[in-house]
Amino acid sequence: MAARDLFGMEMLELRHVLDEFELPKYRAKQIVEWLYHRGAADFEEMTNLPKTLRELLAAEFVIGKPTLRDRLDSSDGHTTKFLLEYADGTAVETVLMRQPYGNSICVSTQAGCNMGCVFCASTLHGMARSLTVGEIVGQAVYINDVLREEEQGKVDTVVIMGSGEPLMNYDNVLGFMRFLHEDYVLGLGYRNFTLSTSGIVPNMYKLAEEGLPVSLSVSLHAPNDELRSEIMPINRKYHLADVVAAAKHYADTTKRRVTYEYILIDHLNDNEEQAEELVSLMQGQLASVNLIPINPVKERNLLRPSKARIEAFEKYLKNHHVNVTVRREMGTDIQAACGQLRNKHLQEPG
Ligand code: SAH
Repeated sequence: MAARDLFGMEMLELRHVLDEFELPKYRAKQIVEWLYHRGAADFEEMTNLPKTLRELLAAEFVIGKPTLRDRLDSSDGHTTKFLLEYADGTAVETVLMRQPYGNSICVSTQAGCNMGCVFCASTLHGMARSLTVGEIVGQAVYINDVLREEEQGKVDTVVIMGSGEPLMNYDNVLGFMRFLHEDYVLGLGYRNFTLSTSGIVPNMYKLAEEGLPVSLSVSLHAPNDELRSEIMPINRKYHLADVVAAAKHYADTTKRRVTYEYILIDHLNDNEEQAEELVSLMQGQLASVNLIPINPVKERNLLRPSKARIEAFEKYLKNHHVNVTVRREMGTDIQAACGQLRNKHLQEPG
């Protein structure tokens, strides 16, 4: 049997596990302190535990934290992209954005993705597998450790917007948020999480029922079914109107404003007629639109619109009272478009 992983294990279970070895409960507190606040990657480092106990733990358990495979820092120093690797060799991307309001991280929920969106690098090689709670937690704790070591504070906000479709890995993504929320882990408030989905309708309703004030982002990218199905194949299963209805339900239930992400792609979804359709979709919603000029992915022949076209689209929305922002660019010089760094390593292993 594979050794059990203590990383990402809930306190109750950890106590239970330690109980089996007749270890006192306070040991659990010491262990979580090492795992989530003191950067320990193995039991040897846990110097306030007796040596015999460290040896016993090392014989019975593992600490399934990811290790660093690559790191890219943007030239302005604001954005850092990490390629993190788990014990089985699976690697995922996690991005740190040092924002004026704090440190924000973007985590992956699956290795690769099988949604097939045409603009996205994460989906080019399909999906290897979904990540466990501990593996997603590992990304956040890894970066929190880096921030502490570099004396830059801690993780303040989390966007679940990296590779993968979070609502296709529902239980583990929920488990991840609940775990990070615990005081003995990072103690992050649910308001500090944003989950982004391509529109897995039944699970959007399910999420609304959880009673957590998590922000929801919906990847829209087109204002009608025909174009959306072309850009995002998942639209053939969950149609635009149903996605928008589910998002509206989420906003009504949680009283949290929903954000629609709309990647602007030159002469594909950025003309005035499409802006007009988008305006009618937004009527009567507690929502805002985030326009994202595409980061062109070299395998795809999709281009970024000119500045004039981007501004015209934004202006049309503004003039029609849609709450709109254009996403500030971060880290284009470090292949920060979803999935690009991982792909580079898939192509040139090692
Ligand atoms: N599956 C989820 C989360 C991952 S993709 C979802 O679809 O929402 C989330 C976001 O990554 C997209 O909405 C978009 O904002 C961004 N993104 C992905 N590829 C991009 C690209 N080539 N250029 C700009 N943004 C991109």
